[in-house]
Amino acid sequence: MADYSARTDKSVLDRYMELSPGMQGKCQVMYVWLDGSGEDMRCKTKTLDFVPKSITEIPEWNYDGSSTYQAEGSNSDMYLRPAAMFDDPFRRGDNKLVLCEVYKYDQRPAETNHRKSCNEIMDRAKDSEPWFGIEQEYTLLAQDGHPFGWPKMGYPGPQGPYYCGVGANKVYGRDIVEAHYRACLYAGVKIAGTNAEVMPAQWEFQVGPCLGISMGDHLWMARFILQRVAEDFGVVVTFDPKPMEGDWNGAGCHTNYSTNAMRDDGGIQHIKAAIDKLSKKHWDHIRMYDPKEGGDNARRLTGKHETSSIHDFSSGIANRGASIRIPRQCGEDGKGYMEDRRPSSNCDPYRVTEAIVRTTVLDDWNM
Ligand code: ADP
Ligand code: MN
Ligand code: MN
Ligand code: MN
Repeated sequence: MADYSARTDKSVLDRYMELSPGMQGKCQVMYVWLDGSGEDMRCKTKTLDFVPKSITEIPEWNYDGSSTYQAEGSNSDMYLRPAAMFDDPFRRGDNKLVLCEVYKYDQRPAETNHRKSCNEIMDRAKDSEPWFGIEQEYTLLAQDGHPFGWPKMGYPGPQGPYYCGVGANKVYGRDIVEAHYRACLYAGVKIAGTNAEVMPAQWEFQVGPCLGISMGDHLWMARFILQRVAEDFGVVVTFDPKPMEGDWNGAGCHTNYSTNAMRDDGGIQHIKAAIDKLSKKHWDHIRMYDPKEGGDNARRLTGKHETSSIHDFSSGIANRGASIRIPRQCGEDGKGYMEDRRPSSNCDPYRVTEAIVRTTVLDDWNM
């Protein structure tokens, strides 16, 4: 709880942020990337003498990989290759946030750069126009690691009244949710909605539908913006898939998915065929669905709390206890999309979307 000593007065900061129109033609670009944990993000800023109009105008950059669990000190330069550009909701004006891929000194992708292969797979599958929509669940914590708003001694009342709840005794931390929603819209992140979750202090936002590689790009930037907003409020975000042991829901990253054939009339046949393929690759997918290759998700996918057991593959219409759910409306329409409920809240969406397309479109697991 050493935390509060690091708090500053944001209204004082605003005096300086108002200087924005007088930047003498310069532009601040915040480069954002994934560190060696595969979960945490890093960022640093570069001044440009011009306002970039597209990602191709953003220069490559580098950083010290020995300080991000990515390289030895003796050979530590890592390269940042700009991949996706967004407007900066924090600095506003012409300033940008740029999501980057990380490469090593020898031009091979860093171990946690799963975007490169995802991009190649999405390119090979582009004729089937894969769309994704991800439901990102997360939990707010106080800086002491205790769930935000929970009593310091004991627990809140049992789950039931909190999901989509309203009221000071039902939801904790809505300011962060609202600020994050607006910041994503400002940035150009394709955020689709938000809701309060089953466990108090747990929330969800949805991103999508996004075509191919843009799913991972938009979700990672949405996560970055969430961390950055929560930092302003002095609140911690965790993407741990089971932050509280016991009778409390975990956190997932339900991945909704369709191809053009699934969205067309009679598409349910294509949805069922894809589910059949997925059923034969359950463990290959589980390994792609959290950073510990099943280790994190094992705490969450217990078969309780609206999850399927990690040990079984199952599917069903409107079944929230299955690995794959077909939404009821899609069952009725005979077309639409499916929901893979297995990915963990701390999954890498590049790995998840790549795995789904490899299995259901390309029939190719040669990594
Ligand atoms: P749930 O009922 O599981 O809570 P949500 O409403 O939270 O579902 O999320 C549904 C997600 O599905 C949204 O992110 C939306 O963008 C996405 N989605 C909707 N239609 C499609 C589609 N045809 N293909 C892929 N994703 C889709
Ligand atoms: Mn949802
Ligand atoms: Mn949910
Ligand atoms: Mn869902």
